[in-house]
Amino acid sequence: MTHPVFERTVTSTTCPYCGVGCGVYATADGQTVIDVTGDPKHPANFGKLCVKGSNLHHTVGAEGRLLHPSINGQTTTYQSAIEYVAKAFQDSIALYGPDSVAMYVSGQILTEDYYIANKFMKGFVGSANIDTNSRLCMSSAVAAYKRAFGSDTVPCTYTDLEEADVLVLVGSNAAYTHPILYQRMQAAKQRRPELQIIVIDPRHSATVEGSDLHLPIYPGTDTVLFNGLLQYLYQHNVCDKTYIEQAVDGFESALAACAGWDIERVARVTGVTVDALTMFYTAFAEQKRVVTFYSQGVNQSEQGVTKAHAIINCHLAQGKIGYAGAGPFSITGQPNAMGGREVGGLANMLAAHMDIENPQHREWVSEFWQSERLASKPGLKAVDLFASVKAKQIKVLWIMATNPVVSMPNRNEIEAALAACDCVIVSDCYARNDTLAFADVILPSSTWSEKDGMVTNSERRISRQRGIVAPPGEAVHDWQVIRDVARAMGWERAFAYSSPREIFCEHAALSGWYNGQDGAPVRDFNISALSQMSAREYEQFKPTMWPITAEHPEGNIRLFADKLFYTPNRRAVMWPTPFVDHSEPADPDYPWVLMTGRYRDQWHTMTRTGRAAELALNQPEPYLHISPKAALELGIAEGNFARVNSRYGEVVLPVKYDIGLREHTCFAPIHWTQQNSHGATISRCVSSRVDPISGQPDSKFVAVNISAEPVAQYGQIWSREAVVLPCEYWTLVTLATGVGYFTGSQNTLTMAQWLEHFVTQPWSWHFIDATQSDSVFAIASRSDQIMCMLALGATKPDLPWSWLVDLAQRTALDTELVAQYLRRDIPTAHTRGKLVCSCFQVGKKDIEQAIASGCDSVDALGQTLHCGTNCGSCKSELQALLNQQQAQPLIHLQAV
Ligand code: SF4
Repeated sequence: MTHPVFERTVTSTTCPYCGVGCGVYATADGQTVIDVTGDPKHPANFGKLCVKGSNLHHTVGAEGRLLHPSINGQTTTYQSAIEYVAKAFQDSIALYGPDSVAMYVSGQILTEDYYIANKFMKGFVGSANIDTNSRLCMSSAVAAYKRAFGSDTVPCTYTDLEEADVLVLVGSNAAYTHPILYQRMQAAKQRRPELQIIVIDPRHSATVEGSDLHLPIYPGTDTVLFNGLLQYLYQHNVCDKTYIEQAVDGFESALAACAGWDIERVARVTGVTVDALTMFYTAFAEQKRVVTFYSQGVNQSEQGVTKAHAIINCHLAQGKIGYAGAGPFSITGQPNAMGGREVGGLANMLAAHMDIENPQHREWVSEFWQSERLASKPGLKAVDLFASVKAKQIKVLWIMATNPVVSMPNRNEIEAALAACDCVIVSDCYARNDTLAFADVILPSSTWSEKDGMVTNSERRISRQRGIVAPPGEAVHDWQVIRDVARAMGWERAFAYSSPREIFCEHAALSGWYNGQDGAPVRDFNISALSQMSAREYEQFKPTMWPITAEHPEGNIRLFADKLFYTPNRRAVMWPTPFVDHSEPADPDYPWVLMTGRYRDQWHTMTRTGRAAELALNQPEPYLHISPKAALELGIAEGNFARVNSRYGEVVLPVKYDIGLREHTCFAPIHWTQQNSHGATISRCVSSRVDPISGQPDSKFVAVNISAEPVAQYGQIWSREAVVLPCEYWTLVTLATGVGYFTGSQNTLTMAQWLEHFVTQPWSWHFIDATQSDSVFAIASRSDQIMCMLALGATKPDLPWSWLVDLAQRTALDTELVAQYLRRDIPTAHTRGKLVCSCFQVGKKDIEQAIASGCDSVDALGQTLHCGTNCGSCKSELQALLNQQQAQPLIHLQAV
């Protein structure tokens, strides 16, 4: 049989993971993407990609994709599915009104998808019940910007990070969450060692390794820290009175709210030494070019908006905004969170940075969309939206490109809501995720490498994401499926689009609609110069920072240089930021504060990154990170299991020692789901508490109880095929060949019990080693091929996965190979310890050895082992190993 020969193409596109928005060159063979490299011309990354971006091609492919629509579990035609969805919406609207239906979308979709979804819901369904997972990411930052500047305007750019003299990173583990920006910061520091990097984080995260000063504040006390700073600026007479007089309202009341926050009191409440605070405050006060870079550690809080205001206040008080190297810089987590903000993606927004509560704005948008059904009030924010689903007020819910069963807080509540919903529609790319289990209607979607449109990154830069290959099966683009449902509901004329370009041009035209003309006030978001783009111009669009207008056709990098903001009087506003202690602090019943966050090599709920073996081994399992001292007190050895209870739910996780955690705090990752673990989805523990203004959940602070979870038998299994396991706890590890599992059983299961449960195939278990009392090593074959390797014991086997994969790849099963496994005769090539550098497969032991042999810097390690020389994502871990082994801790000041 001959195969068609596909020509190789190289396409410039954008990485679909984080808000850095790196440019990617993707090489395809016509059917799939086979390689990716960084786009050297893209101003976000100049050719670099982090480990997630560089492995994009390992996450695509037809395997595991959703290929056909289905209704109630039955495959159906695309047209039938569209008609079913349209009828579900129509019937519910007719019976219960427009607020009985809702959409929950995603910062992963493209601007065109986002625009049409909002036009559909707010403009034609007539309900603003459309929210997005960006609510979980940056809605506190948006609310604070809007209240302070009169608009959701990000005032900084990535070059400001390089031009600053002081970089303050608050609630941001940028080394893992925004790796390319972190590397740009580190490169700037290498060029200008006088650049001070100050990290404010309760954890000693990877980001701390490249910093000059770490303030390990007690979780949730950021407001105190910045209130203390404002007070310090005032007391030291370094507030910019001229700037305040000219451009800022609210200084006096903001200052009054900081009264009493002298440095000693701030030290007591934050748990940071006076020396450390003085260093931070002095640096901020004295240097002109200061950027405060903040992310989910600030936003995901019941005081997220207050925290953001406390940061912005300090910048406004000194006029540190509107020039190079200065400003309060909120970084978005998702690739197109900013595009979503542009189109009014949140339930409390209207398109083109207009305000849904402003009657004049509603009138303008109605006129532009030629709709008389425009929503007249804000819709429900994510947590309230799902609560309304649970209360059966929302009867039809369309979820698009997100996995809320895992990513929303309080998983038990979300599951109950979806179980109670009359009609759950899920648009997704992949056939397995935890949310699909609740879907009545499943619509297969296109994914990165197939989707075509625009995304906007954290510095307001719009870039093209280009369709490289055709979607498989009946998968369609999100804008198409919304268009088709809207047409089926009778709105053919308003949804007559035949391409994403037409949608984008309309979005661009709306941004200029009544924007500074005919007596209308000026809005910040204006890309009206793109409203007439031809197909060729759209195709060839180069990354450009908005606003993009007739005055600034190439974009405008610097906003607020004129000291004019977008409030009615064009003045910025400082808001009072009184500190309110956490509403659910740790107490004797729940004495630990759990913080949640990301691992370096995984993204969100692993639907994509979980497919790549290359990304699996840096952190192959979800761990509960606690200090060794605390683990000892709890009687839990590293690798053993802990049960973590909150008032909302519980999980069981293996413990990992982490010396970078404060007393009575712990950390767990957000990524694992029921598809790849049992009992490890941390959102079960997270509360539904939200910030009262932004509605953003408080995912960084949950009071929990931790106890040792008795496990009698640990296991490590390699299997050629996925298997059903008889034990209580397991985590699946994606491998280059076969699949791996770590397991834990409450009872010691015999081999017979294991085999009875998980072997459905006629495998031959010829090689069971029963000679050892506390452990069993077994190997199974079929037709001279290893099918399974099973290691069980009272302690965790912890065999190198690379060794098991290597054995599994041998073509002939011989007695020597079997003996090698049973003897645990591991060649030194496989005893390199935890994988640190994914690109060059460099393990921790290799690195420790190189350091012992004289490598004294990250560069030296790179020259010797190549680690850190490709994507650079492991550089902070290399620095941490250098710091540990050289016993030279950085000056990071200790908590008091
Ligand atoms: Fe993608 Fe990494 Fe760039 Fe983020 S930093 S956009 S994940 S390559």
